[in-house]
Amino acid sequence: MYQIIDGKKISQEIKEELKEKVAVLKEQGKTICLAVIQVGNDPASSVYVGNKKKACAYIGIESQSYELPEETTQQELLELVQRLNADDKVNGILVQLPLPKQIDEGKVIQTIAPEKDVDGFHEKNVGALCVGSKGYVSCTPLGIIQLLKRSGVEIAGKNCVVIGRSNIVGKPMALLLLRENGTVTVCHSRTQNMKEITKQADILVVAVGKPKLIDDTYIKEGAVVIDVGIHRGADNKLCGDVDFEKAAPHTSAITPVPGGVGPMTIAMLMYNCVSSVSENPVP
Ligand code: NAD
Repeated sequence: MYQIIDGKKISQEIKEELKEKVAVLKEQGKTICLAVIQVGNDPASSVYVGNKKKACAYIGIESQSYELPEETTQQELLELVQRLNADDKVNGILVQLPLPKQIDEGKVIQTIAPEKDVDGFHEKNVGALCVGSKGYVSCTPLGIIQLLKRSGVEIAGKNCVVIGRSNIVGKPMALLLLRENGTVTVCHSRTQNMKEITKQADILVVAVGKPKLIDDTYIKEGAVVIDVGIHRGADNKLCGDVDFEKAAPHTSAITPVPGGVGPMTIAMLMYNCVSSVSENPVP
């Protein structure tokens, strides 16, 4: 029988721990403020931004909201980011992606001061992860490490395979697993004989962006499977990159969609915000 890794429960645990930490910090006169910028009114982005603000309120972080019109120019957005960089009251800056096409996302990310880049996307933070020094780490892969650790999954010495090499998920995931002493292989769209590789995995992280691509034929019996994908099917139901029904019976543990990786992303954003004033706020 396989274990379902419950991201809802684990993310709630982390939020409770952070809430306590924030209360202690407040007593010491340390407050935390996250500035959230949304450009345009993409409905999915509005939901994500709303959830982030709710999480801030829950754990006791102040949030400032900047809702800019779709036609905002790159210059206008950069000026806002620079103003927030210079504002001592603001600890973290989050620009909700994707941005409208007239704005260069890379330029915006690199303009955020690295010490306020709570998404962990700035080159300086990515570089820090790469060489093993202090910096913010992308929230989704950071959350996956917490899911594994809090579910009792040993990473050190294990064969870890990551499918996907995006800057936000795949690459930082591989680096984090390496930091935890896993033996890491990355598969991507040009990988040949992918099944031969994934069938070696003790821990398989799937961030491929294709609904139900990974079924039991990719999985070693008893592997731990983490599904990062999130898609809404024609039936309006959510599904992941893994075909849960086919894969789950062959795993020892697996994350569901919804309720697996998704809730961890916001919890780890809160973790990064609290880290801005207190090192390693939860174990
Ligand atoms: P992406 O599209 O940027 O990257 C997908 C990666 O998969 C690419 O590196 C590509 O090389 C690889 N790939 C594509 N087709 C492949 C194939 N047939 N075989 C092997 N590799 C292939 O996506 P992303 O931003 O990394 O996101 C991946 C998924 O995770 C998406 O479904 C996204 O919605 C989801 N996501 C979820 C969260 C969350 O909080 N739950 C956060 C970020 C992303």
